[in-house]
Amino acid sequence: MTDNLQFAREQLLSMSQQLCALGLNRGTSGNASVRVDEAGVQGLLITPSGMPVDKMTLDDLVWMDFSGHARGSRAPSSEWRFHVDIMRHRPEVNAVIHTHSMCATTLSTLRRDIPAFHYMIAVAGGDSVRCAPYALFGSQQLSDNALLALEQRKACLLANHGMIAIGDTVEKALSITLEVETLCEQYLTALQVGEPYILTQQEMAEVHAQFKGYGAWAKNPQSS
Ligand code: 13P
Ligand code: ZN
Repeated sequence: MTDNLQFAREQLLSMSQQLCALGLNRGTSGNASVRVDEAGVQGLLITPSGMPVDKMTLDDLVWMDFSGHARGSRAPSSEWRFHVDIMRHRPEVNAVIHTHSMCATTLSTLRRDIPAFHYMIAVAGGDSVRCAPYALFGSQQLSDNALLALEQRKACLLANHGMIAIGDTVEKALSITLEVETLCEQYLTALQVGEPYILTQQEMAEVHAQFKGYGAWAKNPQSS
């Protein structure tokens, strides 16, 4: 095993454990992957199918190439199709997370996009988080639907199922997952009282511009 692969295994297991610790996944629900290019072969490491995270070890993680060939002692997640398709079509993505977290999943059963009811929707890359049409778990149709819903976005809901979040790093994928779950909780709460006001395109354009310099001081001490 290369150092690179060993590091990726540790990252993937730790990310999966954090998803459970944060209450975003429970039991065998959800899955995750990280990009690994090994000896020039593009691929990913993915969590095994049907295994609770508290039982998962580094050896249970499965390597796959982009044609869907798996190498490992366990079967890859039943959702390997959308993990592979996202990594293939989105070269900037290095980590993919899928959850059945409470609020995202509840909202996904309403089968509607999350609009710009809060400015933090911008962290998912646009002015909304789309809800991909329903398809059977593990199917190619679900993967196709998810890929479309993720266009120009870093997260989407999956109708009657859950959510997907993606990032260029493991840390960013985790923080987007947590943010989207928080937004879903806030949106569901607001919907119980009435229809929340939606920010305009102009207001959201200002938010996207404001985010450009957000949290940047530590990288450029001269400017502080
Ligand atoms: P796996 O255990 O096969 O990853 O399935 C969990 C899941 O969330 C299916 O959508
Ligand atoms: Zn699922």
